[in-house]
Amino acid sequence: MRSAQKILIIDDSEDDRELYRRLLKDDERYDWAIIEAETGEDALNKLDLDDFACILLDYSLPGRDGLRVLSDIAEREHYAAVVMLTAQGNEAVAAQSLKDGAQDYLSKGVMTTDALRRAVHNALAQVDMLRRLKEQQLAQQTFAKVLAHDLKEPISVIRGMNNLILDCVRSRDFDEVEEFSLRIERSASRMFQLIQSLKEYNRSADGNVPFRPIDMNEVVLGALDDLEILLRDRNAKVKVDVLPAINGCAPQLIQLVQNLLTNAMKFCTADQPMIQISWRERQNFREFLFSDNGIGIQPEYRKSIFKPSYRLQSQDQYPGTGLGLSICKSIVERHRGQIWCEDNEIGGTTFVVAIPRDIEIAKAS
Ligand code: ADP
Repeated sequence: MRSAQKILIIDDSEDDRELYRRLLKDDERYDWAIIEAETGEDALNKLDLDDFACILLDYSLPGRDGLRVLSDIAEREHYAAVVMLTAQGNEAVAAQSLKDGAQDYLSKGVMTTDALRRAVHNALAQVDMLRRLKEQQLAQQTFAKVLAHDLKEPISVIRGMNNLILDCVRSRDFDEVEEFSLRIERSASRMFQLIQSLKEYNRSADGNVPFRPIDMNEVVLGALDDLEILLRDRNAKVKVDVLPAINGCAPQLIQLVQNLLTNAMKFCTADQPMIQISWRERQNFREFLFSDNGIGIQPEYRKSIFKPSYRLQSQDQYPGTGLGLSICKSIVERHRGQIWCEDNEIGGTTFVVAIPRDIEIAKAS
């Protein structure tokens, strides 16, 4: 089965664009939705509005040349694969474009169906590998950071409490032993939670999971099922609209929804946490909204909370590992989407999960 993908052709020559369109038609691997831009400015506007798997970029554009456009694309941190199209014999430009982030180049003088498709397929494979590498790197960094920093604290509490228990034994005064022992148990369970979250975090960065069409209603039902006891204990009310399907990985999406629901209940001081799950369509994205009536998040922290181990409150106030939202971010990025939060009219927070409508379906299938 051919997967649906978007490609942006940036070339000021109508004839050349027509040629690439013809060469890409009936590609055996991809069913291309082709968008065209005549200038660099036009292309950048289109890149801001849409999500492309690949970009064919002509070097000699009017105004802003291909290398300038390439550096503007790199700044936008797109995961689009770029193939630079150069005039025959222009090796210097070709070499520079590879240095500046293009995955491949192709001389317009030797443009054939095979050459163009091979360049595009290779460029896509390279970007896919890069993305996986970056995710794995981030997962490793997080793992090391949590080991080096966050596990230190519960370990030092356990050692401290153990020393106090030893003092009690030596002085045969056992009044506080039970309290010290409970604190050891609390720290040990925090370590356990940290390790559990790290496992989930690493799993969310695993680039090998297959994507399939997933009914988001079933994802939410799965998450609600797992949280049944917590929902009952907190007397929470959850309202769910009828949701659309997306391409994705069901276990990861359930994990994502669970983390958001757990936080919505945890960071809420109302007697009855109220959660609304809805969705809207924006450009090429399906946006899922998780709104709560919780304590809210100040605008200046709305980006940082997605970093591993970043927490706004103390453990005593709201216990946690600080990994929940970074797991969510990693899962959403695996789905080529974005996550952010906003305030809402009921005084709490709305987390928005935006997933591209037409991300690639399973390479594994
Ligand atoms: P944890 O929940 O373990 O603290 P997270 O990564 O899930 O870690 O969240 C990071 C921080 O973001 C939380 O400590 C909290 O300050 C804030 N936060 C997350 N979700 C919400 C929410 N729904 N309402 C208010 N604050 C939230």
